[in-house]
Amino acid sequence: MPDTVTDPRFADFPATFKGRVLRAGESDFASARLIWNMLRRDENPAVIAQAADREDVAIAVAYANETGVPLAIHSGGHGIDGMAMPGDALVLDLSKLKDIDVDPERRLVTIEPGVLLGELDAAGQEHGLVVPAGVVSDTGATGLALGGGIGHLTRRFGATVDNIVSIEGITADGATVTASAESHPDLFWGLCGAGHNLAVVTSITFRAHPVGPRVMSGMMYYSADDAPKLFGNLDAVMAEAPRELSIALILLNAPPMPGLPDSLVDTPVIAVLVIYTGDLARYEEATAGLRSLARPLVDEVTETTWAQANSIADPFEPPGRAQYLRGGYMSGIDADLAAVALHQLASCPRTEPPSPNCLVTLPILGGAIFDRPEDATAFSRTGAEWLYEVSAHWDDPADDTAHLDWVHETDALLRRWATPNAYVNLTTHRGAEWLRRAYGTDEKWRRLVELKKAWDPDNRLAYNKNIRTAAEELGA
Ligand SMILES: Cc1cc2nc3c(=O)[nH]c(=O)nc-3n(C[C@H](O)[C@H](O)[C@H](O)COP(=O)(O)OP(=O)(O)OC[C@H]3O[C@@H](n4cnc5c(N)ncnc54)[C@H](O)[C@@H]3O)c2cc1C
Repeated sequence: MPDTVTDPRFADFPATFKGRVLRAGESDFASARLIWNMLRRDENPAVIAQAADREDVAIAVAYANETGVPLAIHSGGHGIDGMAMPGDALVLDLSKLKDIDVDPERRLVTIEPGVLLGELDAAGQEHGLVVPAGVVSDTGATGLALGGGIGHLTRRFGATVDNIVSIEGITADGATVTASAESHPDLFWGLCGAGHNLAVVTSITFRAHPVGPRVMSGMMYYSADDAPKLFGNLDAVMAEAPRELSIALILLNAPPMPGLPDSLVDTPVIAVLVIYTGDLARYEEATAGLRSLARPLVDEVTETTWAQANSIADPFEPPGRAQYLRGGYMSGIDADLAAVALHQLASCPRTEPPSPNCLVTLPILGGAIFDRPEDATAFSRTGAEWLYEVSAHWDDPADDTAHLDWVHETDALLRRWATPNAYVNLTTHRGAEWLRRAYGTDEKWRRLVELKKAWDPDNRLAYNKNIRTAAEELGA
């Protein structure tokens, strides 16, 4: 069937661009525009320009400059706000740039922006190495790293930004820049947490660490009745636990599963995702405190590979559904918090067929994240003992409002435990004042506003939690 291309927007996009340039009506446009979060399912970008190499990136940035058009950037397409494919935008799609270079001697891993976390893990594990990053395999490693990056190894090795050696990008003026502690250190500081605002990043070099290949991992499911024992004591227990032990608490309406009494299916339960990357012989010792708190209904923790461990969360976050998420940090949890969250699960909108569509998730942080001070990176970490996320997933557009309302209401109830700062990647945008506080201190915000003025004065990189727009709203 011939392509029917009638859209005249960006008709003068340079013919020197080697990758495909897709418009609505052209074959492959529909699949190219799919992103993980389909909440903005009705929005279509004007053009998706799929870069074939870094030269293409430079061509697209130069075109944006000549025409005064903002560029939307798509790397992994996992952004919570769906900013990788905004309606009517010119999208520079970097998902085809997938080179990964592992230097096992120096324990360095360099990636292009199309690399996903599962691919990064697979390449590193060929040499027994891991770059500390996130927990869902099809998340883009670059978008994640530029916002901070947290996951099962954060307690042990810090955030992803704490493991970045250098970042190469094309800045709004078309220059290729390498930023590191030695080269453009101020830009490097900003890229490590507010990177989406400052450059089109074409490669990142990370420090990797020996992990696995064998680890302990799996889910434990507890009755909601055990919430006071767990939530009342976990801060103290985890403060004593080795950094090799990571847990994520997931409160959800239980799906059917072997070992879980039928009477508990579709009622609120507490799942604990356990990942232990230390000496396997010391697993029992490492988890003794956790196990002393309550007896799980189901215990699936077993010896696995690192790759298996780091994809356990995948089924909770399937692609192609509508999703909405609000979250932040907590410096402590308690039984009252659990009671509020479990009570909210009872009012989660029902869908057919039933699915665990409402989640309150609390991955532990702390540990190595506090080995560096707040102002070491743009990424904020003060008080980040736990991350919290209130999220909903669904398919039918008719269910949009009910799920958004549920997330807003639950988040509002949980905010009394939240710190003022936040992790920008794992929440929807909450406005200018929130963004200013998310970065931790007034001085850091001032520095970011100056960096945005210096490196992207015309706001070509506008499709993100935008510093320029927020600064203007705040009158800075
Ligand atoms: C299911 C799911 C699980 C997640 N799990 C984790 C987790 O465990 N840990 C964690 O830290 N985060 C997690 N995240 C959040 C994730 O870090 C962010 O959504 C991140 O932005 C995804 O990167 P991406 O490349 O896939 O994003 P995209 O959707 O491609 O882009 C997101 C944003 O980054 C900007 N951007 C993308 N590429 C570039 C580039 N090359 N240069 C400049 N700007 C760019 C875009 O403009 C956009 O604003 C998760 C998100 C989802 C949806």
